[in-house]
Amino acid sequence: MGSDNKTRIITAIVMLITLLLPGRTLAMNSEPRGTLVLLGNENLAPIVFNDNGVAKGVAVDIAKAIGNRIGYDIEVVPVDWQQAQAKVLNGEADGLLQINPSPERNILYDFSAPLLRSDFSLFVRSGNTTLRNIDDLRGKLVGVEAGGYPSTLLRNYEGIDTVVIDDWKTSFRDLSNGGLDAIIVDRWIGEYELAQSRIVGITVVTTPIETQHSRIAVRKGDADTLALLNSGLIGITEDGTVDEILKQWQGKRVVYITEDYYQILWLRLASLFLLLVSTTAIYMVSKYRKLSQQLKASVKERTEELHRSNEMLKAANLKLERLSMIDGLTAIENRRAFDIAFNRGYESSLREGMPLALIMIDIDHFKVFNDTYGHIAGDQALIKIAGVIKDVIKRPGDLAARYGGEEFVVMLMNTTTEGAAIVAEEIRRRIEALGVENEKVQAVITVSLGVAAVVPNEKMAPEELIDAADRALYRAKEYGGNKVIVWEKEQRN
Ligand code: GH3
Ligand code: MG
Ligand code: MG
Repeated sequence: MGSDNKTRIITAIVMLITLLLPGRTLAMNSEPRGTLVLLGNENLAPIVFNDNGVAKGVAVDIAKAIGNRIGYDIEVVPVDWQQAQAKVLNGEADGLLQINPSPERNILYDFSAPLLRSDFSLFVRSGNTTLRNIDDLRGKLVGVEAGGYPSTLLRNYEGIDTVVIDDWKTSFRDLSNGGLDAIIVDRWIGEYELAQSRIVGITVVTTPIETQHSRIAVRKGDADTLALLNSGLIGITEDGTVDEILKQWQGKRVVYITEDYYQILWLRLASLFLLLVSTTAIYMVSKYRKLSQQLKASVKERTEELHRSNEMLKAANLKLERLSMIDGLTAIENRRAFDIAFNRGYESSLREGMPLALIMIDIDHFKVFNDTYGHIAGDQALIKIAGVIKDVIKRPGDLAARYGGEEFVVMLMNTTTEGAAIVAEEIRRRIEALGVENEKVQAVITVSLGVAAVVPNEKMAPEELIDAADRALYRAKEYGGNKVIVWEKEQRN
């Protein structure tokens, strides 16, 4: 055995000790923590309440935080509030969570630093303005919790009938129905209950009857427990933990809605809705009006346009109709105009039993004229001759027309062969008098005229009159031209 072995043994011992040291520390840390049992009111939501056998509420969370602070498990047990107080006095639990000091209680318990602020407030039916403070409660029926601070408080006043509240919901219903005149409870608790139960028609009097700070109570003389709890409570109050917890619970605080508020809300919503509806309606009506005005204006415009187009069309048709009746070269009526006028004239003469006369006119040797002087000169001669014929025919109802080529026709209403012959002779004479030279025949331009007249009857056809005038013209040519031949006369001859 050398020094090496010794060193090994020492090293092993040192290592063993080193290994054991933190182990011991761990063992010390895992020692069971102390436990404190606090009893809380099972019926004081949201401060302390029984939620399926588990204590919940803002005060419970604060108690848990105190426990963490002081390294204790703090167990909160939710029980009947009167039993809770009795049990702590009997030493069955370490303390009461959330209780307000009063002279009587000061004899029985020692109290911690302030825990929560309690605004003991008056809850009354909405619209009741007569109950404002404790003095107003004389002769009234007031609901208070058994063993609660308000019941202690009211004992100092005479003539106030108190009713013990077993269940907040039932009591608030009673208040709403008129079974109770008022309820006194911590404002937070009352409002929480109203919101939870959705009871309406109750308001809280804004100024509290009394403001107190609830505390944790221990049996009189249990200074150790009180010191322990106080150190924790003061610690978490100073480091902001309490504020943090309050904030969380205040967030859950439901603002209860009174009936008045409901009505106002309703009215506001209804008027907003009506405003929306009427604005939409006004908008729609004005839009519709604008549209219908636009429509009216555009209909009027289109109607006027249509009217104008119609007028233009009528005028154009009339012009076209007139043009279709006029000979392009001589500007007197054409063959078409003659056909229409002749049919009409014939019909009316037939009806009236009046004579109707025709004069057929053909220029003599016109082919020669054209050949000598050219077509343009021929056209000029045609224009002059047409002018003369037109000039001679003046009576309304009578008609002079270009019948085709260098032939003209004249229709004379209510005219016998004698009358027509005179007109024909006048035409012949004036054309000759024009003195338009036609040198190849060593003369001036002349015309031959065939005259026929008839009083139309049912047995005759209109064409027969035209035919007769044509034949008379033919005869005039046979006699050498520049002549008037009357068909009847010719027949007689
Ligand atoms: P007639 O004495 O037998 O009537 O002999 P004519 O030469 O006049 O013979 P007809 O009556 O057959 O005439 C036809 C000629 O008239 C042919 C043509 O030269 C001429 N003519 C017909 N229409 C026009 C026209 O619009 N302009 C011109 N310049 N000449 C025309
Ligand atoms: Mg001819
Ligand atoms: Mg001729």
